[in-house]
Amino acid sequence: MIPDNFLQLAIETAKSSPSRRKVGAVLLKKSKVVATAVNLEQKSHPLQARLAKKVGLCEKIYLHAEIAALIKAKEDADTIVVARVNTRNKLRMAKPCPICTLALEQEGIKNVYYTTNEGFMYKYNLEEDSLEIHETT
Ligand SMILES: [Zn+2]
Repeated sequence: MIPDNFLQLAIETAKSSPSRRKVGAVLLKKSKVVATAVNLEQKSHPLQARLAKKVGLCEKIYLHAEIAALIKAKEDADTIVVARVNTRNKLRMAKPCPICTLALEQEGIKNVYYTTNEGFMYKYNLEEDSLEIHETT
């Protein structure tokens, strides 16, 4: 179970995104923060572009929060928390897209937590291909 403070950190990070779609990602290793990042609708990155091409979404070259966090990380991580908020700071679906899922798999991230429109948080295990639902407070 993920502590609420990491969810809060992901939400606060998302709020700081300069993009219209506000997404924030927190990378963790053994419950310690390794990196935080936001999506950047104006900034492309070669890694994002390469992975986008791989999954057939060539136009998605602008940095997603998950990939931005992986680029910033100085050490390996095992967990990522992704939050998305709308302009009124309500939680929105932040399920990683196919590009980010590929990146997370390649980097060995096992646990993916993401916010949903219902205010719940989902935990997806990339290794076991399992989904759990967590209440957010
Ligand atoms: Zn993505």
